[in-house]
Amino acid sequence: MGENMKPSTVKIKKMPSRFKHQVPKYKITRSDDCINCGTCAKTCPYGVHERPEGHNRVNPPINYKCIGFECQSKEFCCLTQCPRQALSLSLNPMYETLGDYRWTADMITGTWIMAETGYPPERTDLEYNVGNSGGGFDKLRFKFPANPPKVDKAEISTAIELNRRNDGRAPVVISTPVYGGGMSFGSVSLPTMVSKAHNAAIWNTFTCTGEGGYPEILMPYDDHVITQVATGLFGVREETIQRVKIIEFKYAQGAKPGLGGHLLGEKNTESVAKMREAVKGASLFSPFPFHSVYSIEDHKKHIDWIKEMNPIALVSVKVSTPNDVDMVAVGSYYAGAHIIHIDGGYGGTGAAPDIAKKNIAMPIEYAITKVHNFLKAEGARDAVTLIASGGIRTAHDLVKAICLGADGAVIGTAELVSLECVRCGNCESGRGCSRGIASTDSELADLFTEEWATQRLTNMYHAWNYQLVEILQKFGMKSVKELVGRTDLLEHIDYSK
Ligand code: SF4
Ligand code: SF4
Ligand code: SF4
Repeated sequence: MGENMKPSTVKIKKMPSRFKHQVPKYKITRSDDCINCGTCAKTCPYGVHERPEGHNRVNPPINYKCIGFECQSKEFCCLTQCPRQALSLSLNPMYETLGDYRWTADMITGTWIMAETGYPPERTDLEYNVGNSGGGFDKLRFKFPANPPKVDKAEISTAIELNRRNDGRAPVVISTPVYGGGMSFGSVSLPTMVSKAHNAAIWNTFTCTGEGGYPEILMPYDDHVITQVATGLFGVREETIQRVKIIEFKYAQGAKPGLGGHLLGEKNTESVAKMREAVKGASLFSPFPFHSVYSIEDHKKHIDWIKEMNPIALVSVKVSTPNDVDMVAVGSYYAGAHIIHIDGGYGGTGAAPDIAKKNIAMPIEYAITKVHNFLKAEGARDAVTLIASGGIRTAHDLVKAICLGADGAVIGTAELVSLECVRCGNCESGRGCSRGIASTDSELADLFTEEWATQRLTNMYHAWNYQLVEILQKFGMKSVKELVGRTDLLEHIDYSK
């Protein structure tokens, strides 16, 4: 799939920030020497300065649109064009408070721009592909060949099959090797869930309900929704299992293995409680582990149960990444899983405790290779789909994960950031999400429309797919499937010559 082979349902449309002021990297200051001549509004091609028709005053600068110091070498730079030298440019001190070492301020800003425009940022001052974590994906770079075979972008396919078992169940092909992770009704708002599902339908891929049941509003997107069966069995019904193409067992989450799930009472509103068949306002726990599964034989019984209930659907098994994740994966293959979804330690919303996120599960970069190689040695690799999550932040991370051995990836935080999440980490609290994403509060959940959010997600997926196609072209490959397990195409910057 190249630029002109994406699903015909994908339409890119500019979808600007819903806030008047994003957190800008730079700050333009206009001094009292300004005479409101309007030159800056005419000269800045990025729309930082505006003088509306019929007005004789320029508006306050829209700082987030400014490309910063690289502009100073351009002829049009407002700093030099201003006849009164009334303009100055500085770094915005608040910008440094945005993000962290993994999700840097530049990465968040880059994702916002992709969600707004549908393309990677044109600015060269943003390092939006790698973070500052000092390890893992952030230390890996691509080794592009000097003279790759010539491939036209229109010939490149980013599609992957999810059913590789050849077991008579439905073939399921997704158009881009990435889909949305499980976020339950209760952990996020309905507009967040619906927009994720709508975008999945537009991109011919999937999203996952998470463990909070299957709100009826998702029904138009049934063919693109994975319904999850987790330890709490909240909202698990035969009818929803029979409605979808993929059912996922969630055994554990990489962000908090061994801890299960916990929805604080203040997020358990009337509608959330109804969906989960629980009491409004009560804190809800998903225990760890499934107390019905203590062996691969038990695991197989679980999978058989689902297969019996839905004779055509695929079964995905989501596990975290303990040291023996490779054996868990092989066991899941023998138990009958179509998709093995391994979730590394860096995922999770702000609701996952930091101590768990940073200290328990294996980083996904190690887990992918371990599982890929073990499945290969077992002769099972070609019969299962290996999906990685828990730390896939960018299109570059996605490609690196595939080179390490995954077929594709699941993303969560990147989708939330497209909806203007600021990574504040307050997701667990009822009214803590100032952006209305991870909230069940009716006022906060109304902070954006489904239309706005769907377009932002569609744009972000488009920017990723655009980068993926560019990378495949640089490798001279016609299909993303050629990348799987090609660790020779990566180099570690600390050890490369
Ligand atoms: S170019 Fe200078 S003087 Fe003219 S409106 Fe802009 S800041 Fe003011
Ligand atoms: S520095 Fe460049 S991008 Fe920034 S406001 Fe001035 S002209 Fe626009
Ligand atoms: S902005 Fe909302 S979704 Fe993002 S980290 Fe904060 S509370 Fe969570």
